[in-house]
Amino acid sequence: MEPIMNQIWPKVFQRFHRRSLFSRRSLSSWAEHATVSASTNSRHMKPTLLVSRLYQPSNLHEVGQNTSLQGEMTCKSQRLMQQAGLIHPSNPGCYYYLPATVRSMEKLIRVIDQEMQGIGGQKLDMPSLCSAELWKASKRWDLMGKELLRLKDRHDGDYCLAPTHEEAVTTLVAHQTSLSYKQLPLLLYQITRKFRDEPKPKFGLLRGREFYMKDMYSFDVSEEAAYQTYESVCQAYTRLFARLGLHCVQVQADTGNIGGKLSHEFQLPADIGEDRLLLCGNCSFAANVETVSSDSTDCPQCGTGTLVESKGIEVGHTFYLGKKYSNVFNATFSNAQNKLAVAEMGCYGLGVTRILAAAIEVMSTEEGIRWPGLLAPYQVCVVPPKKGSKADKAAVIAEELVQTLADALPLLRGEVVLDDRTQMTIGKRLKDASKLGYPYVIVVGQGALEEPTRFEVICQKTGEIMFLSKEGLLDLLGRVETI
Ligand code: ATP
Ligand code: MG
Repeated sequence: MEPIMNQIWPKVFQRFHRRSLFSRRSLSSWAEHATVSASTNSRHMKPTLLVSRLYQPSNLHEVGQNTSLQGEMTCKSQRLMQQAGLIHPSNPGCYYYLPATVRSMEKLIRVIDQEMQGIGGQKLDMPSLCSAELWKASKRWDLMGKELLRLKDRHDGDYCLAPTHEEAVTTLVAHQTSLSYKQLPLLLYQITRKFRDEPKPKFGLLRGREFYMKDMYSFDVSEEAAYQTYESVCQAYTRLFARLGLHCVQVQADTGNIGGKLSHEFQLPADIGEDRLLLCGNCSFAANVETVSSDSTDCPQCGTGTLVESKGIEVGHTFYLGKKYSNVFNATFSNAQNKLAVAEMGCYGLGVTRILAAAIEVMSTEEGIRWPGLLAPYQVCVVPPKKGSKADKAAVIAEELVQTLADALPLLRGEVVLDDRTQMTIGKRLKDASKLGYPYVIVVGQGALEEPTRFEVICQKTGEIMFLSKEGLLDLLGRVETI
């Protein structure tokens, strides 16, 4: 690919590309570069992200038009995400993740990385194409039935597109014959696409046939140590959802075809959730109904409380696996007595794309997306006055404000967009901003021309409107948490 690029890319772009390859935020710098406005691209100014140039349209399709492209929109998050140009359907259970979604997902991945690495997780990346041999060894080649997407290669070899990676990771660890007890617990994780031929893909990113999952696998010296690892992962999950501002319930769960003895699901209570939960009003008991045998509504844990049923979206799942896979694939380590012992395992999933959609499902209004603050694709949208209106002169102030924010608040770099569609009224652009859910919208209108200068700030989450000076604005936005 490189030689072709060299022929067709303008020289300046090649230079930029080479430089940005080595910067931490090379992709977002590229995006900034690509959406620069001619008027603001003077030698001394930083590039400005312009709404008119972002590929996240409403520009893609107007609501209600061309419904054949939109597919059936079965829930709020799917409808809002498609209408805002965050996702676009391709075939059943598969979506294009458009740029704003990718930004949000990259943020979620950074939070997940922090939490997983915080408990000692090491990130790797395993092949999606998995040989049938491994799956036959664990017997899941037959057990998984039609959900496993199977294919043959040119040599007539059987493969599947991995729906999960217990077999693959256990084989990998088994290959390391010199693994010592001193290296355990070993926690390996990845964030990759998973494939499942779901019987009923639906609800947009909530149940896809191709989706992103974080899957972590742990290897421990003993059952006791494995339980400790299990507990530390559950705590990391709890912290993660708290950081996102999501109310998440940890419920005891069925172990399904993964096998093993102990399992929990992390559920976001929501009406469209496909899981039924039983929660005790009196104590911490919380379970998926699948695990509760009696029909009684008395709580089995405290005996006095009553169980109340609610629906939930499963966003995470943890399993203690014991030696189920390590026995099959011979994943061993040398113990303190220098003898080979079979590792105790656990596995821990988080539905990355499902978390995005589920968060939108539980936080949004019917009219507009509301994001967990950390995950909003952009934190701030600056709206200048309509061209030809009385406050027209404030347009320059809006452009300057974007520069001031970039200079004064480095954490907001790449997080501020300018809605340069000045042929539209402020009202129409505010409606779009509310649909997309930028946490902060700043209107630069008549107040920006008066003394003292006032900017109108809309905090989308609370609906609160404030009139702030530039200093007040910097103070407010300086407290925004970004990742
Ligand atoms: P479900 O019961 O919803 O089918 P599962 O029990 O099959 O999920 P796991 O094997 O535990 O799912 O996968 C780990 C995580 O991956 C789940 O907790 C969920 O968040 C996510 N996930 C599973 N299936 C899908 C899917 N089809 N689309 C999007 N995310 C999914
Ligand atoms: Mg599950």
